[in-house]
Amino acid sequence: MTKDYYQVLGLSRGATIEEVKKAYRRLSKELHPDKHKGDKSAEQRFKEVNEAYEVLGDPQKKQMYDQFGTTSGPGMGGGFEGFSGFGGDFSGFADIFENFFRGGGGARRKPSKRGEDIEIQLTADFQDAVAGAQREIHLNKMVRCKECDGAGTAKGARIVSCPDCGGTGQITRQQQSFFGTIAQRFACTRCNASGEVPEQACVSCGGEGRREEKATVTVRVPAGIHDGQTLRVRGEGNVGRQGAESGDLFVRIAVKPDKRFVREGDDIHSEITLSALDAILGTQVHVETVYGAVELKIPQGTQPGQVFRLKDKGMPVAGTTSRTGDHYVTAHVEVPKKLSRKERELLEQWKDISRE
Ligand SMILES: [Zn+2]
Ligand SMILES: [Zn+2]
Repeated sequence: MTKDYYQVLGLSRGATIEEVKKAYRRLSKELHPDKHKGDKSAEQRFKEVNEAYEVLGDPQKKQMYDQFGTTSGPGMGGGFEGFSGFGGDFSGFADIFENFFRGGGGARRKPSKRGEDIEIQLTADFQDAVAGAQREIHLNKMVRCKECDGAGTAKGARIVSCPDCGGTGQITRQQQSFFGTIAQRFACTRCNASGEVPEQACVSCGGEGRREEKATVTVRVPAGIHDGQTLRVRGEGNVGRQGAESGDLFVRIAVKPDKRFVREGDDIHSEITLSALDAILGTQVHVETVYGAVELKIPQGTQPGQVFRLKDKGMPVAGTTSRTGDHYVTAHVEVPKKLSRKERELLEQWKDISRE
Protein backbone atom coordinates (compact mmCIF):
# COMPACT_ATOMS: atom_id res chain seq x y z
CA MET A 1 0.00 0.00 0.00
CA THR A 2 1.72 3.15 1.18
CA LYS A 3 5.46 3.40 0.54
CA ASP A 4 7.83 3.66 3.44
CA TYR A 5 8.56 7.37 3.30
CA TYR A 6 11.58 7.06 5.58
CA GLN A 7 13.11 4.53 3.20
CA VAL A 8 12.46 6.85 0.26
CA LEU A 9 14.56 9.49 2.02
CA GLY A 10 17.25 6.93 2.92
CA LEU A 11 16.44 7.20 6.61
CA SER A 12 15.40 4.71 9.23
CA ARG A 13 12.09 4.91 10.98
CA GLY A 14 11.93 7.38 13.81
CA ALA A 15 14.35 9.84 12.21
CA THR A 16 13.86 13.36 13.52
CA ILE A 17 12.37 16.16 11.50
CA GLU A 18 15.80 17.80 11.29
CA GLU A 19 17.23 14.64 9.73
CA VAL A 20 14.27 14.55 7.32
CA LYS A 21 14.90 18.13 6.26
CA LYS A 22 18.59 17.50 5.75
CA ALA A 23 17.96 14.35 3.67
CA TYR A 24 15.34 16.14 1.60
CA ARG A 25 17.61 19.09 0.83
CA ARG A 26 20.37 16.76 -0.32
CA LEU A 27 18.14 14.45 -2.41
CA SER A 28 16.08 17.16 -4.06
CA LYS A 29 19.29 18.83 -5.21
CA GLU A 30 20.78 15.53 -6.37
CA LEU A 31 17.65 14.39 -8.25
CA HIS A 32 16.47 17.74 -9.56
CA PRO A 33 14.89 17.34 -13.06
CA ASP A 34 17.17 20.06 -14.45
CA LYS A 35 20.13 17.76 -13.88
CA HIS A 36 18.50 14.63 -15.28
CA LYS A 37 16.68 15.69 -18.45
CA GLY A 38 14.73 12.73 -19.91
CA ASP A 39 15.80 10.33 -17.17
CA LYS A 40 12.52 8.68 -16.21
CA SER A 41 13.81 6.87 -13.14
CA ALA A 42 15.37 10.03 -11.68
CA GLU A 43 12.11 11.84 -12.35
CA GLN A 44 10.20 9.10 -10.53
CA ARG A 45 12.63 9.22 -7.59
CA PHE A 46 12.32 13.00 -7.44
CA LYS A 47 8.55 12.66 -7.28
CA GLU A 48 8.76 10.07 -4.52
CA VAL A 49 11.18 12.16 -2.51
CA ASN A 50 8.84 15.14 -2.74
CA GLU A 51 5.89 13.03 -1.75
CA ALA A 52 7.77 11.64 1.26
CA TYR A 53 8.81 15.13 2.29
CA GLU A 54 5.25 16.45 2.03
CA VAL A 55 4.46 14.07 4.86
CA LEU A 56 7.64 13.74 6.94
CA GLY A 57 8.57 17.42 6.64
CA ASP A 58 5.32 18.43 8.32
CA PRO A 59 5.35 17.76 12.06
CA GLN A 60 1.64 16.97 12.23
CA LYS A 61 1.58 14.64 9.23
CA LYS A 62 4.82 13.03 10.40
CA GLN A 63 3.33 12.24 13.76
CA MET A 64 0.27 10.78 12.10
CA TYR A 65 2.48 8.71 9.81
CA ASP A 66 4.70 7.53 12.67
CA GLN A 67 1.70 6.39 14.61
CA PHE A 68 -0.63 5.00 11.97
CA GLY A 69 1.70 4.36 9.03
CA THR A 70 -0.46 6.63 6.92
CA THR A 71 -1.58 10.23 6.95
CA SER A 72 -5.20 9.28 6.47
CA GLY A 73 -5.52 7.80 9.95
CA PRO A 74 -8.38 8.55 12.29
CA GLY A 75 -9.10 12.11 13.16
CA MET A 76 -7.20 13.84 10.38
CA GLY A 77 -7.71 17.54 10.86
CA GLY A 78 -9.67 19.63 8.41
CA GLY A 79 -8.02 20.16 5.08
CA PHE A 80 -6.42 16.74 4.86
CA GLU A 81 -9.56 14.71 4.22
CA GLY A 82 -9.03 14.78 0.47
CA PHE A 83 -5.83 12.89 1.08
CA SER A 84 -7.41 9.58 1.96
CA GLY A 85 -9.91 9.58 -0.89
CA PHE A 86 -7.18 9.11 -3.43
CA GLY A 87 -5.64 6.07 -1.77
CA GLY A 88 -2.01 5.06 -1.32
CA ASP A 89 -0.08 5.77 -4.50
CA PHE A 90 -2.01 8.87 -5.42
CA SER A 91 -1.62 10.66 -2.12
CA GLY A 92 1.04 12.89 -3.64
CA PHE A 93 -1.32 13.93 -6.39
CA ALA A 94 -4.07 14.58 -3.88
CA ASP A 95 -1.77 17.04 -2.24
CA ILE A 96 -1.09 18.70 -5.56
CA PHE A 97 -4.81 18.96 -6.24
CA GLU A 98 -5.34 20.56 -2.90
CA ASN A 99 -2.67 23.14 -3.46
CA PHE A 100 -3.74 23.61 -7.05
CA PHE A 101 -7.37 24.28 -6.26
CA ARG A 102 -6.54 26.39 -3.29
CA GLY A 103 -4.51 28.38 -5.78
CA GLY A 104 -1.52 28.25 -3.47
CA GLY A 105 -3.46 30.53 -1.15
CA GLY A 106 -1.90 28.78 1.81
CA ALA A 107 1.43 30.30 0.92
CA ARG A 108 0.28 33.87 1.26
CA ARG A 109 -1.22 33.38 4.65
CA LYS A 110 1.30 33.70 7.41
CA PRO A 111 1.47 30.33 9.10
CA SER A 112 0.68 30.27 12.76
CA LYS A 113 3.58 29.68 15.08
CA ARG A 114 1.32 27.92 17.52
CA GLY A 115 2.35 24.31 18.04
CA GLU A 116 0.43 21.61 16.21
CA ASP A 117 -2.21 19.56 17.95
CA ILE A 118 -1.39 15.89 18.31
CA GLU A 119 -3.95 13.13 18.15
CA ILE A 120 -3.23 9.68 19.51
CA GLN A 121 -5.20 6.63 20.49
CA LEU A 122 -5.27 5.02 23.93
CA THR A 123 -6.81 1.67 24.74
CA ALA A 124 -8.47 1.53 28.15
CA ASP A 125 -9.76 -1.52 29.96
CA PHE A 126 -13.47 -1.84 30.55
CA GLN A 127 -12.80 -1.44 34.26
CA ASP A 128 -11.00 1.88 33.61
CA ALA A 129 -14.25 3.18 32.18
CA VAL A 130 -16.03 2.04 35.36
CA ALA A 131 -13.66 3.43 37.95
CA GLY A 132 -11.65 6.01 36.01
CA ALA A 133 -7.88 5.71 35.64
CA GLN A 134 -4.64 7.58 35.20
CA ARG A 135 -2.59 6.51 32.24
CA GLU A 136 0.88 7.48 31.07
CA ILE A 137 1.27 8.07 27.37
CA HIS A 138 4.69 7.94 25.74
CA LEU A 139 5.06 9.89 22.54
CA ASN A 140 7.48 11.89 20.47
CA LYS A 141 6.66 15.55 20.41
CA MET A 142 8.24 18.93 19.87
CA VAL A 143 9.48 20.47 23.10
CA ARG A 144 11.14 23.79 23.83
CA CYS A 145 14.83 23.87 22.92
CA LYS A 146 16.82 24.18 26.13
CA GLU A 147 19.84 25.64 24.36
CA CYS A 148 18.12 28.88 23.23
CA ASP A 149 15.14 28.65 25.58
CA GLY A 150 12.81 28.53 22.58
CA ALA A 151 14.03 31.70 20.86
CA GLY A 152 15.78 29.84 18.01
CA THR A 153 18.56 32.39 17.98
CA ALA A 154 22.22 31.82 18.70
CA LYS A 155 23.44 34.02 21.55
CA GLY A 156 24.07 37.61 20.37
CA ALA A 157 23.05 37.01 16.70
CA ARG A 158 21.82 39.87 14.40
CA ILE A 159 18.54 39.69 12.41
CA VAL A 160 19.05 39.40 8.62
CA SER A 161 17.05 38.65 5.47
CA CYS A 162 16.15 34.93 5.17
CA PRO A 163 18.52 33.19 2.73
CA ASP A 164 16.05 30.38 1.87
CA CYS A 165 13.36 32.68 0.46
CA GLY A 166 15.43 35.81 -0.18
CA GLY A 167 13.35 37.74 2.33
CA THR A 168 10.02 37.14 0.53
CA GLY A 169 8.70 34.62 3.01
CA GLN A 170 7.74 32.26 0.16
CA ILE A 171 9.36 29.32 -1.57
CA THR A 172 8.42 28.21 -5.09
CA ARG A 173 8.71 24.54 -5.89
CA GLN A 174 8.24 22.74 -9.25
CA GLN A 175 6.16 19.61 -9.19
CA GLN A 176 5.10 17.12 -11.86
CA SER A 177 1.40 16.40 -12.22
CA PHE A 178 -1.28 15.42 -14.74
CA PHE A 179 -1.29 19.04 -15.82
CA GLY A 180 2.41 19.17 -16.56
CA THR A 181 4.75 21.03 -14.29
CA ILE A 182 3.10 23.10 -11.63
CA ALA A 183 4.88 25.75 -9.68
CA GLN A 184 3.69 25.66 -6.12
CA ARG A 185 4.28 28.32 -3.58
CA PHE A 186 4.85 27.42 0.02
CA ALA A 187 5.33 29.51 3.08
CA CYS A 188 9.02 29.51 3.91
CA THR A 189 9.43 27.32 6.93
CA ARG A 190 12.89 28.60 7.76
CA CYS A 191 11.72 32.13 8.56
CA ASN A 192 8.11 31.16 9.17
CA ALA A 193 7.11 33.43 6.24
CA SER A 194 8.47 36.50 8.00
CA GLY A 195 11.42 36.90 5.59
CA GLU A 196 13.76 37.49 8.49
CA VAL A 197 16.00 35.18 10.41
CA PRO A 198 18.70 35.60 13.00
CA GLU A 199 22.11 35.66 11.31
CA GLN A 200 23.03 32.67 13.39
CA ALA A 201 20.35 30.23 14.33
CA CYS A 202 20.61 28.14 17.44
CA VAL A 203 22.73 25.12 16.51
CA SER A 204 20.75 22.80 18.68
CA CYS A 205 17.31 23.39 17.13
CA GLY A 206 18.21 24.93 13.76
CA GLY A 207 16.29 28.08 14.69
CA GLU A 208 12.90 26.47 15.34
CA GLY A 209 13.22 26.99 19.06
CA ARG A 210 11.98 23.46 19.58
CA ARG A 211 13.19 19.90 19.20
CA GLU A 212 11.53 16.54 18.86
CA GLU A 213 11.96 14.49 21.98
CA LYS A 214 10.41 11.58 23.78
CA ALA A 215 7.84 12.77 26.27
CA THR A 216 5.48 11.27 28.82
CA VAL A 217 2.05 12.75 29.40
CA THR A 218 -0.26 11.63 32.18
CA VAL A 219 -3.87 11.43 31.09
CA ARG A 220 -6.81 11.12 33.44
CA VAL A 221 -9.43 8.81 31.96
CA PRO A 222 -12.70 9.85 33.61
CA ALA A 223 -15.11 7.25 34.98
CA GLY A 224 -17.99 6.66 32.60
CA ILE A 225 -16.04 7.41 29.43
CA HIS A 226 -17.49 5.92 26.26
CA ASP A 227 -15.62 3.99 23.59
CA GLY A 228 -14.47 6.38 20.84
CA GLN A 229 -14.64 9.52 22.97
CA THR A 230 -11.76 11.97 22.67
CA LEU A 231 -10.12 13.72 25.61
CA ARG A 232 -8.37 17.03 25.15
CA VAL A 233 -5.25 17.73 27.18
CA ARG A 234 -4.56 21.42 26.79
CA GLY A 235 -1.02 22.51 26.03
CA GLU A 236 0.36 18.97 25.67
CA GLY A 237 0.66 19.01 21.87
CA ASN A 238 3.76 20.29 20.09
CA VAL A 239 5.28 23.42 21.53
CA GLY A 240 5.10 26.37 19.11
CA ARG A 241 7.95 27.71 17.02
CA GLN A 242 10.18 30.28 18.68
CA GLY A 243 8.47 29.95 22.02
CA ALA A 244 4.89 30.29 20.73
CA GLU A 245 1.93 28.66 22.43
CA SER A 246 1.70 24.86 22.48
CA GLY A 247 -0.94 22.85 20.66
CA ASP A 248 -3.23 20.43 22.44
CA LEU A 249 -3.07 16.68 22.79
CA PHE A 250 -6.21 14.83 21.72
CA VAL A 251 -6.49 11.33 23.13
CA ARG A 252 -9.03 9.11 21.47
CA ILE A 253 -10.10 6.43 23.93
CA ALA A 254 -10.87 2.92 22.78
CA VAL A 255 -12.57 1.00 25.57
CA LYS A 256 -11.94 -2.75 25.48
CA PRO A 257 -15.17 -4.73 25.69
CA ASP A 258 -15.94 -7.08 28.58
CA LYS A 259 -17.73 -10.15 27.33
CA ARG A 260 -19.85 -10.42 30.47
CA PHE A 261 -21.49 -7.07 29.85
CA VAL A 262 -23.19 -5.14 27.09
CA ARG A 263 -23.16 -1.42 27.58
CA GLU A 264 -26.01 0.70 26.26
CA GLY A 265 -25.52 4.34 27.07
CA ASP A 266 -24.91 4.31 30.81
CA ASP A 267 -26.83 1.09 31.40
CA ILE A 268 -25.41 -2.41 31.51
CA HIS A 269 -27.14 -5.52 30.24
CA SER A 270 -26.29 -9.12 31.07
CA GLU A 271 -27.95 -12.51 31.01
CA ILE A 272 -28.45 -15.42 33.40
CA THR A 273 -29.76 -18.88 32.79
CA LEU A 274 -32.20 -20.50 35.24
CA SER A 275 -33.34 -24.08 35.37
CA ALA A 276 -37.07 -24.51 34.74
CA LEU A 277 -37.57 -25.53 38.35
CA ASP A 278 -35.73 -22.48 39.70
CA ALA A 279 -37.88 -20.28 37.49
CA ILE A 280 -41.00 -21.99 38.77
CA LEU A 281 -40.06 -22.16 42.46
CA GLY A 282 -37.91 -19.06 42.75
CA THR A 283 -34.31 -18.96 44.01
CA GLN A 284 -31.36 -16.72 44.81
CA VAL A 285 -28.52 -16.27 42.27
CA HIS A 286 -25.12 -14.52 42.00
CA VAL A 287 -25.05 -11.85 39.34
CA GLU A 288 -21.81 -10.24 38.13
CA THR A 289 -22.03 -6.47 37.97
CA VAL A 290 -19.31 -3.98 37.05
CA TYR A 291 -18.90 -3.41 40.79
CA GLY A 292 -18.58 -7.14 41.64
CA ALA A 293 -21.05 -9.94 42.36
CA VAL A 294 -24.42 -9.25 43.99
CA GLU A 295 -27.25 -11.52 45.12
CA LEU A 296 -30.43 -11.38 43.08
CA LYS A 297 -33.70 -12.83 44.39
CA ILE A 298 -35.52 -14.70 41.63
CA PRO A 299 -39.21 -14.79 42.54
CA GLN A 300 -41.45 -17.77 42.11
CA GLY A 301 -42.98 -17.92 38.65
CA THR A 302 -40.23 -16.08 36.77
CA GLN A 303 -40.95 -16.03 33.03
CA PRO A 304 -38.47 -16.75 30.22
CA GLY A 305 -36.96 -13.44 29.08
CA GLN A 306 -38.04 -11.62 32.22
CA VAL A 307 -35.82 -8.64 32.99
CA PHE A 308 -34.67 -7.62 36.46
CA ARG A 309 -33.33 -4.18 37.20
CA LEU A 310 -30.38 -3.66 39.55
CA LYS A 311 -30.74 0.03 40.28
CA ASP A 312 -27.56 2.16 40.14
CA LYS A 313 -25.40 -0.82 39.17
CA GLY A 314 -24.75 0.53 35.68
CA MET A 315 -21.91 2.79 34.50
CA PRO A 316 -21.14 6.06 36.23
CA VAL A 317 -22.40 8.97 34.14
CA ALA A 318 -19.29 10.80 32.89
CA GLY A 319 -18.92 14.30 34.25
CA THR A 320 -21.11 13.66 37.29
CA THR A 321 -20.17 12.27 40.68
CA SER A 322 -23.46 10.85 41.84
CA ARG A 323 -25.37 9.60 38.82
CA THR A 324 -25.08 6.05 37.55
CA GLY A 325 -26.98 3.96 35.07
CA ASP A 326 -28.78 0.72 35.95
CA HIS A 327 -27.96 -2.91 35.30
CA TYR A 328 -30.61 -5.05 33.57
CA VAL A 329 -30.47 -8.81 33.92
CA THR A 330 -32.37 -10.94 31.42
CA ALA A 331 -33.33 -14.41 32.71
CA HIS A 332 -33.27 -17.31 30.29
CA VAL A 333 -35.05 -20.47 31.32
CA GLU A 334 -33.65 -23.85 30.40
CA VAL A 335 -36.13 -26.69 29.93
CA PRO A 336 -34.58 -30.11 30.71
CA LYS A 337 -34.12 -32.27 27.62
CA LYS A 338 -33.97 -35.58 29.50
CA LEU A 339 -35.95 -36.79 32.48
CA SER A 340 -35.35 -39.74 34.76
CA ARG A 341 -38.22 -42.10 35.31
CA LYS A 342 -38.77 -40.75 38.77
CA GLU A 343 -38.82 -37.17 37.53
CA ARG A 344 -41.23 -38.07 34.79
CA GLU A 345 -43.56 -39.76 37.29
CA LEU A 346 -43.57 -36.73 39.54
CA LEU A 347 -44.23 -34.35 36.67
CA GLU A 348 -47.09 -36.55 35.44
CA GLN A 349 -48.55 -36.39 38.95
CA TRP A 350 -48.17 -32.63 38.95
CA LYS A 351 -49.92 -32.47 35.61
CA ASP A 352 -52.80 -34.50 37.01
CA ILE A 353 -53.11 -32.22 40.01
CA SER A 354 -53.08 -29.05 37.97
CA ARG A 355 -55.88 -30.42 35.77
CA GLU A 356 -58.23 -30.73 38.72
ZN1 LIG B 1 12.42 32.54 4.52
ZN1 LIG C 1 17.55 26.24 20.08
